[in-house]
Amino acid sequence: MKDLLDRVAVVTGGSRGLGRAMALRLAAKGAKVAITYRDREDEARKVKEAIETAGGEALLLKGDVAEGDTARQWVDQVLEAFGRLDIWVNNAGIRRDQLLLRMKREDWEEVLRINLTGVFLGCQAALRPMVRQRFGRIINISSVAGLVGNEGQGNYSAAKAGVVGLTRSLAKEVASRGITVNAVAPGFIETDMTATLPSSVREAAEKAIPAGRFGTPEEVAEAVAFLASPLSGYITGHVLVVDGGLSGASF
Ligand code: NAP
Repeated sequence: MKDLLDRVAVVTGGSRGLGRAMALRLAAKGAKVAITYRDREDEARKVKEAIETAGGEALLLKGDVAEGDTARQWVDQVLEAFGRLDIWVNNAGIRRDQLLLRMKREDWEEVLRINLTGVFLGCQAALRPMVRQRFGRIINISSVAGLVGNEGQGNYSAAKAGVVGLTRSLAKEVASRGITVNAVAPGFIETDMTATLPSSVREAAEKAIPAGRFGTPEEVAEAVAFLASPLSGYITGHVLVVDGGLSGASF
């Protein structure tokens, strides 16, 4: 169903993994999509080409989500290219796993900087045109690690839990302006991020997941597409868990 025709979306970290699947899904629903990336221009270009080959419109935006005015500049570029901004997905993220006793302060700070401060800056930048339009959909990518914790991911879990608190607070601030703010919390999903997991961690995870397998990026993208769609207009401040039953959570 092309229920996002005339909508304009931004997906941060849209060059690979979950962000790539989200960009393709939102474009398939009719949205014009801007994809941000930091390093992998080759991969970002492939996503843009895939959208255009399917008849859609796409824009590439380069930069670090947590750096200075980058997110605001992206918003300006999107408004110049497409004239509006309706959907903003804060997806870009990293992990620097280590047991807390051995974790370096720089790995703590870098994960908080990108995974939490980057989301704050993305929300703030996206809100300006959305408040003027009195319409918007912000979707923040958290993780089940932020809900139930994960060994070796103290920094990542803290950032992702922070994303949930930010999402719920902002949802209350802007609901009256026609803007919804929700989070999606994936479990283990097949992307570059999980490709480097040690085989022992991977096997333990597969045993712990009631569905018996890692999820696909497309399964997460479908949850994002729902929260971006007209069907979800009365849902805000929600965390949609997409984890094959791993967390057993209902938040
Ligand atoms: P991924 O395959 O490693 O891709 C990460 C994406 O983020 C890339 O497009 C990368 O751009 C971009 N990125 C990273 N740091 C950036 C920065 N500082 N500024 C701008 N862009 C940056 O990761 P993924 O698995 O798709 O994960 C996407 C999101 O889902 C993350 O927030 C992650 O924490 C979350 N998540 C993933 C899983 C999972 O199992 N995969 C589970 C739960 C939550 P470049 O390629 O250009 O550098």
